[in-house]
Amino acid sequence: VNARGGIDLGGTKIQAVIVNGRGAVIADARRATPTTGGPAAVTAEMAATLGEAAAAAGVETSKLGSVGVGSPGIIDGRRGTVASARNLDDWIEPFPLVRELSKAVGGAPVALGNDVAVATDAEFQLGAGKPYKSLLGVFWGTGVGGGIVLDGKPWTGRGAAAEIGHIVVKKDGALCPCGREGCLEAYAGRGSMEAKARRDADHGRKTELFKIMEKKGRTRLTSGVWAKAVEDGDELAIELIDRAISYLGAGIASAVNLLDPEAVVIGGGLGVRFGPDYLERIKDAMMPHVFADERPPEVLVAALGDLGGATGAALLSPGRPRPARRSAGATPKARARR
Ligand SMILES: [Zn+2]
Repeated sequence: VNARGGIDLGGTKIQAVIVNGRGAVIADARRATPTTGGPAAVTAEMAATLGEAAAAAGVETSKLGSVGVGSPGIIDGRRGTVASARNLDDWIEPFPLVRELSKAVGGAPVALGNDVAVATDAEFQLGAGKPYKSLLGVFWGTGVGGGIVLDGKPWTGRGAAAEIGHIVVKKDGALCPCGREGCLEAYAGRGSMEAKARRDADHGRKTELFKIMEKKGRTRLTSGVWAKAVEDGDELAIELIDRAISYLGAGIASAVNLLDPEAVVIGGGLGVRFGPDYLERIKDAMMPHVFADERPPEVLVAALGDLGGATGAALLSPGRPRPARRSAGATPKARARR
């Protein structure tokens, strides 16, 4: 069986896919991330989500060639642990996710990667980044994550590269969830935008955002809630999305000035939701800050949409080099670094 599994572990949802030998998605499933019970509960739910996708594909999880996980937090590939996943319940200490998940899925080998790095890699190998050798992935969602591919290879630095959300866009600016000030994520992250909307609403600012949230049966301002509010002409929602786009432009341009990639791919919940209509506005916000403005990079919306993270995770295979798109692309050494 050539089928492989991929799981995107997010703060609000767990997305699982089954891919065939070519990396094409043949089934998928999605469940809410448990908000209680810590890493053990999350691991059990990951296995259940993957099981649901596998059942839809007509395979058993134990027969999968591999199961890749795109995870937030600090990943220790050698030990197979994840630590400091701050968006997840009670997940600070290193947890042996490789061992525990492998057990829970009937023994299939499990590989770990950074959630945003694997999503970028998926866009690079299978999605909008296919024609290019260098790429900046920008994942605009609860936070603002980034991924870098240089000369055909993922660049992860010493494990913490591409944190575009923590590029400083305003010295001594708004407080970021990371505890620092003036980061891009403090203005463009959905979490920060929601906190700002709540503060403004508490101070008497009129907005439909929270009514739409309740009507949709949500407890947070999801991308869909923001989209509906903007569509309805909600002034606060429009203002906060505009502000996010303006800072995204500055942050992306700064990264472009440093890396000079051929393309920028915009993904993430808000990116996929607003990208198709707002791409020109994101470019307009970038351009005043792009140094080599006579030949800016292509700016594209992630082609794999919501499934990009899980699809990218499925490309992580333990004991096998990263599938090469170009012969020069992937070496076992490059893979081992991830
Ligand atoms: Zn920050």
